[in-house]
Amino acid sequence: MISFELSDEQKQLQELARKFAKEEMIPKAEHHDHTGEFPFEVTKKAWELGLMNTHIGQEYGGLGLGVLDGIIITEELAYGCTGIATAMEANALAAAPVMVAGNDEQKKQFLGMLTNEPKYAAYCVTEPGAGSDVAGITTTAKKVGDEYVINGAKMWITNASVASWYFVLAYTDPSQKHRGMSGFLVPRDTPGITVGRKEDNLGQRASDTRGLTFEDVKIPAKYRLGNEGDGFKIAMSAFDHTRPVVAAGAVGLARRAMDESINYASTRKTFGTPIASYQAISFMIADMAKDIEAARYLVWRAGWEIDQGRRNTKFAAFAKAYAADMAMKVATDAVQVFGGYGYSKEYPVEKLMRDAKIYQIYEGTSQIQRLIIAKEIFERR
Ligand SMILES: Cc1cc2nc3c(=O)[nH]c(=O)nc-3n(C[C@H](O)[C@H](O)[C@H](O)COP(=O)(O)OP(=O)(O)OC[C@H]3O[C@@H](n4cnc5c(N)ncnc54)[C@H](O)[C@@H]3O)c2cc1C
Repeated sequence: MISFELSDEQKQLQELARKFAKEEMIPKAEHHDHTGEFPFEVTKKAWELGLMNTHIGQEYGGLGLGVLDGIIITEELAYGCTGIATAMEANALAAAPVMVAGNDEQKKQFLGMLTNEPKYAAYCVTEPGAGSDVAGITTTAKKVGDEYVINGAKMWITNASVASWYFVLAYTDPSQKHRGMSGFLVPRDTPGITVGRKEDNLGQRASDTRGLTFEDVKIPAKYRLGNEGDGFKIAMSAFDHTRPVVAAGAVGLARRAMDESINYASTRKTFGTPIASYQAISFMIADMAKDIEAARYLVWRAGWEIDQGRRNTKFAAFAKAYAADMAMKVATDAVQVFGGYGYSKEYPVEKLMRDAKIYQIYEGTSQIQRLIIAKEIFERR
């Protein structure tokens, strides 16, 4: 049976996140966008309310909620500010490989760090020379006795400077390509780690993005996730959990852009009449409403599939590609609805347009999502 009705618990979560976005995020969003300061205060409050780490199991201090629950929360938080929401969501991305492949001891230690205190973590796969082509990474982890020694550089790492620990993908056997990679959990205070300067990004400026270098970073062998050679599989399967949630962020951003457009179009007059009365404007907003709804269905389906314990890779790629492209279009059209005022920092939509762009890039670009979909169509028939 198909139902679009949320449970009472999901409605409560939605209401909690909606109120939080309105009262705690929207008033602070402009400040963090302008200064680039990390939103410690806002994320701490979100943590206290249980809006972070919702998917971590109760045995490790989390709420043990499903991906669909996380999607419902994230759409609301992203409505408030996607930069701040990404600072929260990066924790979920770092935690996902641990949830997929961690043993009990690793989960207790690393997931417990996130649930015991308002702490952060980061997912470190991308490098200066390799993003979409993950096999092109050059970071290595060499086994020496009971330790691994990590050397290499990572790039574009969200939460890099605030994280207490990192999930790091490295080659343990470069000759094996994808099958020669392993995933590691690396505490931030391990000697040999250097955190780079904060990147001066176009959008989502509240979020912290930096490079990281690892120079003879020694970690105990027990911090390896799964077996040697499992790293690529672990890093990619984490995306099945997180891509639907990232896509939900794009839906939240687009909904905000639409609401701003509706309000503006209802009050701004040209030639003596509100611009909403012109079909050119009202149809643009009608398209926003239609496309947001379509994206939400894809996002919910991707979350629902994985919550049923089913492989959702194709649905996660559908949702991420569609919602990201949709959010970029809706935010761009919102600027158009505002005319000249849309181009000014005095009004909210220019930030939405800047913030929207990254959805087509991080967690796999829109081109890479299509590559995944095509592979699913042609190779998994
Ligand atoms: C703000 C921000 C935050 C990020 N956070 C993280 C993070 O926390 N952790 C992390 O590991 N990474 C993170 N990333 C990195 C992000 O995932 C990569 O930037 C992304 O995967 C693209 O890789 P790239 O930048 O190397 O581009 P490239 O891979 O060099 O791609 C360049 C262009 O070529 C296209 N392209 C590449 N290969 C193909 C192909 N086979 N077919 C068609 N088109 C192709 C791409 O779609 C893109 O348009 C972040 C990036 C940014 C900007």
